[in-house]
Amino acid sequence: MTTQATTVPAYAAPAAKAPLERTTIPRRAVGEHDVLIEIKYAGICHSDIHQARDGWGEGIFPMVPGHEIAGVVTETGPGVTAFAVGDRVGVGCMVDSCRVCDNCRAGFQQHCANGSVMTYNALDKNGEPTYGGYSTHIVVDEAFTVRIPDGLSLDVAAPLLCAGITVYSPLRHWNAGPGVKVAVVGLGGLGHMAVKIANALGAEVTVLSQSLRKKDDGLSLGARHYYATSDDATFEALAGTFDLIISTVSAPLPLDRFLGLLKTDGTMVNVGAPEEPVSLNLFSLIGGRKALAGSTIGGIPETQEMLDFCAEHGLGAEIEVIRADQVNEAYERVLRSDVRYRFVIDTATI
Ligand SMILES: [Zn+2]
Ligand SMILES: [Zn+2]
Repeated sequence: MTTQATTVPAYAAPAAKAPLERTTIPRRAVGEHDVLIEIKYAGICHSDIHQARDGWGEGIFPMVPGHEIAGVVTETGPGVTAFAVGDRVGVGCMVDSCRVCDNCRAGFQQHCANGSVMTYNALDKNGEPTYGGYSTHIVVDEAFTVRIPDGLSLDVAAPLLCAGITVYSPLRHWNAGPGVKVAVVGLGGLGHMAVKIANALGAEVTVLSQSLRKKDDGLSLGARHYYATSDDATFEALAGTFDLIISTVSAPLPLDRFLGLLKTDGTMVNVGAPEEPVSLNLFSLIGGRKALAGSTIGGIPETQEMLDFCAEHGLGAEIEVIRADQVNEAYERVLRSDVRYRFVIDTATI
């Protein structure tokens, strides 16, 4: 039993833009409703790099990134009812929220009116910094812990906790399914899961990527069609085609051109966003009653639903497992888009 707070190995950025290095961090004592998780795998999300390099400002250092966490429960608090020692579990982008606002009560903790507590680079309710998944253990309230079904390996399940739910939630909300034409913009960590999930939901999937470099991958992941957005002919050929466009890219897009690809009543959802404001001609929405929308991760119930769906359909992330001491090199490769399609740290190497 670790009823006391413990110190565990981790990889941390000691300061903004500094390379990550091995260190130790505190983990709180296992509370009444907490589970202690031995982390097995932690995915590397693009936002880990943003935050470790303080791209969004006001980062809390030292910072242990990682919000794609898969592991096994090794201890439970006395009040825990949902999990037992030995259970395979995951933790995503949030570890707490107010739990009483309308959104929390509805299961939309990602939209908590009082601000949910992020898995790292945040302060918990006691004012202590949260540290993420690039470590050997984490203590999390059972209410923010999800079950990883037996059918999913922990390594390919880890990226589902951010990349998977980020695309699953809008695909479900905007009813991707049989007879629905979905375009996925960008074939990276998020995009490759959007293709797999949209295809499994029964939608007809098209990838819109800058080039045709990853066309073979896209088609084997489940896309029916693949077009290069660097080719002007793409926008003419596909005008008025899609019910739903999911943009996973963080580069500024020519929104008016993309909105031209929607059918009447179609929606373009952004799950990636550039740091700078974008421009838009509202006539692109008015003609055809189109919608431009955004979405971020998903609530805890929907995250569990996504994991169950992925297990049922045999959907894991395409991954490259790395040692912890390769994390800085992996960051450089993510920035060059040189990964197919997610790096996952084997946390036994920390
Ligand atoms: Zn993420
Ligand atoms: Zn709330």
